[in-house]
Amino acid sequence: FGKDKDGVVEFRNVSFKYPDADDEIIKNISFTAKPGQTTAFIGSTGSGKSTLINLIPRFYDVTEGEILINGIDIRDVSQHELRERIGYVPQKGVLFSGTIESNITYGLETATTADVEKASKIAQAIDFIKEKAEGFKSEIAQGGTNVSGGQKQRLSIARALAKKPKIFIFDDSFSALDLKTDAKLRKELKSETNDSTVLIVAQRISTIMNAEQIIVLDDGEMVGCGTHKEL
Ligand code: ATP
Repeated sequence: FGKDKDGVVEFRNVSFKYPDADDEIIKNISFTAKPGQTTAFIGSTGSGKSTLINLIPRFYDVTEGEILINGIDIRDVSQHELRERIGYVPQKGVLFSGTIESNITYGLETATTADVEKASKIAQAIDFIKEKAEGFKSEIAQGGTNVSGGQKQRLSIARALAKKPKIFIFDDSFSALDLKTDAKLRKELKSETNDSTVLIVAQRISTIMNAEQIIVLDDGEMVGCGTHKEL
């Protein structure tokens, strides 16, 4: 990846069909997501929001068109190099058996204790972590059964933050948070991710109200693009 325009994500006429499916789920989508900005995706259930953002870390490859990061086709770099750049938070936070700390640093080679604490603070996870008898050293049960859905989401967000990537992808990652926590998290996230490219799939309008670019999907098509005011 070139260092110039670090973190620019560009879709050029991207269409996508799942393997063995007949219908296109993503239909000729073009947009550019820029560093320092939040690009949000809204649309009814099944409109293709998750499918679209999952093309960026290459969980699937585009059927037509291309996705570029810093002007380079993502198929021209190794998967490792690509994913290194991306902090991806799925809809349902995924936890592993191990301590809270090891869950936050999972897959990260260089995260320090300070990084983990800072990430947990921004992700609004620090309070419930500290309430546990063993704090960051508390064990997560297999399948994460001893943490709530919202806590799982916050730990997944902390993991993405501790990675300090150029590109953040949040797939409806705030849905299990109450409105107050959601608002606080987004405010702190905004200042922390100032230089990064942030892509958010959201159900709640309040989550994406301040996004610099909102993309509206309907049945795989882009039917609107602009700020909340413009739309
Ligand atoms: P939601 O808001 O409910 O999460 P969404 O807008 O994110 O929905 P997608 O999850 O991207 O929508 O789904 C878009 C379409 O793709 C749906 O018709 C869905 O059934 C289909 N789809 C999703 N994942 C797969 C898959 N792995 N294989 C085949 N079809 C899939």
